[in-house]
Amino acid sequence: MLIVKFGGTSVGKPERMKKIANLVLNMPGKKIVVLSALSGTTNALVRIGEHLLAHQIPEANNEIDTLEKHYLAFISDLYESSSFRAIGEELVSRYFSLFRLLAAGKFDDRSYRELLAQGELISTELFYHHCQERKINARLLPALHFMSIDENHEPELDKISERINPILETMTNAEMLITQGYICRNHKNEIDNLKRGGSDYTASLIGAAVRAEEIQIWTDIDGMHNNDPRIVKKTLPIAELTFDEASELAYFGAKILHPSTIVPAQKYSVPVRLKNTMDEKAAGTLISEKGSRGQFKAIAAKDGITAIKIKSSRMLLAYGFLRQVFGIFEKYKTSIDMISTSEVAVSVTIDDHHYLDEIVGELKGFGSIEVDKNLTIICIVGNMLAEKEGVLNEVFLSLVSVPIRMVSYGGSNNNISLLVETTQKEMALNLLNEGLFGL
Ligand code: ADP
Ligand code: ASP
Ligand code: MG
Repeated sequence: MLIVKFGGTSVGKPERMKKIANLVLNMPGKKIVVLSALSGTTNALVRIGEHLLAHQIPEANNEIDTLEKHYLAFISDLYESSSFRAIGEELVSRYFSLFRLLAAGKFDDRSYRELLAQGELISTELFYHHCQERKINARLLPALHFMSIDENHEPELDKISERINPILETMTNAEMLITQGYICRNHKNEIDNLKRGGSDYTASLIGAAVRAEEIQIWTDIDGMHNNDPRIVKKTLPIAELTFDEASELAYFGAKILHPSTIVPAQKYSVPVRLKNTMDEKAAGTLISEKGSRGQFKAIAAKDGITAIKIKSSRMLLAYGFLRQVFGIFEKYKTSIDMISTSEVAVSVTIDDHHYLDEIVGELKGFGSIEVDKNLTIICIVGNMLAEKEGVLNEVFLSLVSVPIRMVSYGGSNNNISLLVETTQKEMALNLLNEGLFGL
């Protein structure tokens, strides 16, 4: 079984949707196709939802009208025959009636999540009818029947597997199965999602649940690049990455993959291949157990980081102190990305600020606390054996003009993390591109 995921831009135009049907038909064996919402749709649904939560009904209705026009134009180009155009119109009218119904009712957080899920539901239905029109033997596999998260928002891989495999047995004669990325049910059985960019995660979870041969993530770029192409002009695709390397890059901000994508795939050693829908011949990136050479492989950056420094000359060296500090973060379900200690202080970084005030309040019991916001972690990934000389030299020499707030090195063999002010990010990424990759 192949799991083939297409992102928003890959389905964002009628001709692209037609193209991906061809791409999938040319792939051997059984396929589960995971689709995102058409590009721009989830952002529009977020805007509509925010307006409705703020009781800005006319603004929400304006957005709904604009989005509806977009979909009506889309279906008129996607379908060839008048009968399928009529099916398309009925489909658009059904979804937009629901949006207007949601807008007219008591709109709460639950309705918001239901609204956000509609993007993937529409795109998969549109694609399914396109396949019908072409007489492709495709079937819809509703993600809400098998994809679930627990009360901590963690996907329930075992349950997903227990649910999806029997469904697949009832669909063995279909040429391709089409399912929604991103959407799921939560522990209250309500509609929920895997957070922004979550369709990659869906593909990986399904790949792990069915022990697929490969998970393919088709997007608008030819694989994982050595640096962030949105910020750095000259970047190059990487042919191969290990699961660990790709996992670090995704977690530390390489937008091409949802931060958790690699976790389920790695658990069952299912290779993940990144491919470009706009240039299908390009090799892309293969992510697997197998490593490849090269000291520095890639750089990613994660914004929105806060550093918390706890100064406590009295207690720091006492055993059990760090456990107590970490206990506070655990209590507030806030994970720590970087840690650095000295004799008088310990600094940690977090990216989830939800409980920042509560955490700081409790930490004050240990000493004086400093909080620094608007920071960025720059993560350099590769084969950086700690016993090899000169690795840090190269990094620091590239960054002589950038103040570095914190460094993490030696925790694993494939990562150096640096903390900088977000205002320095662009310069740091460009300097590292020159210094480490000669680009
Ligand atoms: P999709 O809609 O297909 O999920 P995304 O926009 O989520 O696509 O991810 C693809 C984008 O990720 C690329 O267009 C690129 O701008 C961005 N990106 C950020 N860092 C990297 C990187 N290291 N390598 C490749 N793409 C990256
Ligand atoms: N449509 C969702 C988003 O825009 C999920 C995805 O595209 O992966 O975040
Ligand atoms: Mg994405």
